[in-house]
Amino acid sequence: MAKDGEGKGLKKKFCKLCIEKVGFLDYKDDKRLGRFVTDRGKIVPRRVSGTCAMHQKQLTVAIKRARLLALLPFTSDFYR
Ligand SMILES: [Zn+2]
Repeated sequence: MAKDGEGKGLKKKFCKLCIEKVGFLDYKDDKRLGRFVTDRGKIVPRRVSGTCAMHQKQLTVAIKRARLLALLPFTSDFYR
């Protein structure tokens, strides 16, 4: 999986987490969180992912926590 044009071809603007009825985002759920970070470990902006404000906030917290626990990579350093 190399880089492919991300940010393009995204038509849907529904919050995926609302659709999946995710009430609480678990930081241990790294598979789910992984869908909301870029290849470089950055959090995908709401504009791109279509995540609603509530879930974006939860995502931010969960991803930061997951990073501390090394479930998700920190930005850049990972790539050398
Ligand atoms: Zn949502």
